[in-house]
Amino acid sequence: MPSLPKTPPPLAPLLGAHMSISGGPAKALERGHSVGCTAVQIFVKNNMQWFAKDFATAELEAFANSSYRPAIVFGHTSYLINLCATDPVTFERSRAALKAELERADQLGLPFLVLHPGAHMGAGIDTGLARIVESLDFVLASLPKGRCKVALEATAGQGSTIGSKFAELAVIIDRCRYPKRLSVCLDTSHLFAAGYDISTPKKFWNVFAQFEKEVGSTRLAAWHLNDSKAALGSRVDRHEHIGKGKIGLAPFREIMRSEQFSQIPKVLETPKGEDLAEDRVNLGVLRSLL
Ligand code: ZN
Ligand code: FE
Ligand code: FE
Repeated sequence: MPSLPKTPPPLAPLLGAHMSISGGPAKALERGHSVGCTAVQIFVKNNMQWFAKDFATAELEAFANSSYRPAIVFGHTSYLINLCATDPVTFERSRAALKAELERADQLGLPFLVLHPGAHMGAGIDTGLARIVESLDFVLASLPKGRCKVALEATAGQGSTIGSKFAELAVIIDRCRYPKRLSVCLDTSHLFAAGYDISTPKKFWNVFAQFEKEVGSTRLAAWHLNDSKAALGSRVDRHEHIGKGKIGLAPFREIMRSEQFSQIPKVLETPKGEDLAEDRVNLGVLRSLL
């Protein structure tokens, strides 16, 4: 039989949104499917609580056997976690919570969990970075068989948050004893608010070249696609609907069209109601850029 001609892989933009797990993690996949997601991000538990009761076997089975499975599902850690908290109670809880969330992520088979590196709370960036590295080493050492990676998210730089500069993410990865278990998530709104101007194609690719140089594009695990209500360099984290904020459509067009990102999941974290109407609109805008 003649072999089939080699055709290029279909353009699979791995595009989707963050979805609520209310009603169980399988529900998130159903929600994602209903708006056409090929990539879905979830919290592995209620994101405003430190700890959760274990997944029921039925919940895990429903998730694993869902017929609404997108090409990729990954997780985002709770916003409460601060791996360089100065308050000892919060610090200990943060480490325990990250460990527990990584275990839950492994139960769901998620490849990585996005994590905000931390906020130094006045202790200074160097102290904060050192504590984050120590915490990651501690947590990852406690899970020798853990498969889920940690994707450090570049932040907007609000308050004392660490990770608004590529160099800070690079320091964490370089100093951590488990660099193979670390990757990075880039959020367009955070980049812009942190002062990385991505508002034209040329500026976007300059910023990405800087990321390539300081961190390395092979570390990129995911894009968060959000426009920004806040101005360039404002260090304010306010997500806006795609094309309705201060960034404009240029970087979204580049990210959607570039072959380089075709296998990198891209998810929205924009405001929405329960009927997901806003997701439909935002995903439509993004697809129209292809
Ligand atoms: Zn985040
Ligand atoms: Fe984000
Ligand atoms: Fe954000």
